Amino acid sequence: MKNSSFIRKDIFGVPVLKSEILESFKDLSHGFSTRRGGESPAPYDSLNIGIAVGDLEENVKKNRNLISGISCSERSVYLTQVHGSEILVIKNDSSIPDPDTVKADGVITDCKDLALVIQTADCQAALLYDPVKKVAGAVHSGWRGNVFDILGRTVRKMAEVFDSDPSDIRASIGPSLGPCCAEFINFRTELPEALWAYGDEKCFFDFWEISRAQLQKAGLQADRISVSGLCTKCDKDSFFSYRGSKITGRMAGFICINN
Ligand SMILES: [Zn+2]
Repeated sequence: MKNSSFIRKDIFGVPVLKSEILESFKDLSHGFSTRRGGESPAPYDSLNIGIAVGDLEENVKKNRNLISGISCSERSVYLTQVHGSEILVIKNDSSIPDPDTVKADGVITDCKDLALVIQTADCQAALLYDPVKKVAGAVHSGWRGNVFDILGRTVRKMAEVFDSDPSDIRASIGPSLGPCCAEFINFRTELPEALWAYGDEKCFFDFWEISRAQLQKAGLQADRISVSGLCTKCDKDSFFSYRGSKITGRMAGFICINN
């Protein structure tokens, strides 16, 4: 579990992966949890934060409380993720919506002390931060998210709503399905032709590079994008993997602007 631009820290005994590109901002807390350090029994062992995967609610609640502690935030936003392209905007003057009523796969905010949490097991959690306008974003992007270009949409939404300059935005993508395991034999019907160049002759696709390209196309500078390069399916001891296990938990990618 090594990557030069990511560091592992143990916070309250819970391993958390942090991106150096975001860790340099002292007014920000962020991270990607692994499957370790939580309360749930197998097959959700142990830090499962997903409610609709079959785990006991009380365990999920304890695990989510752990994430709140790590993110230094008493308030958290969990989305009902639907592999769509909707992006929730939470402005400083608006109330935090009930996540059960909001189906979205991206969320952006300028609120302080509010953790944005993405749930994943193979899909990408992308964390975005504009340190100039002090706006944070979190995105859930599986292959459908890449088809929708939800990363680019989120960057454009940050510019539209909060006047962010995309070249100021930093982005970090956590552990997710790597090109070693992202086999798409039906790519001709599932993926638009523009993405076919990211596949090899055996139909394995590099969605990390697709996301990097989509963020750059949206205006991010190349050296302000960090991809963990850690494949969830290859390291099932460390990560939940839907392709690897089907019945499994969900990990957290979280970001919070601190007061
Ligand atoms: Zn892999």
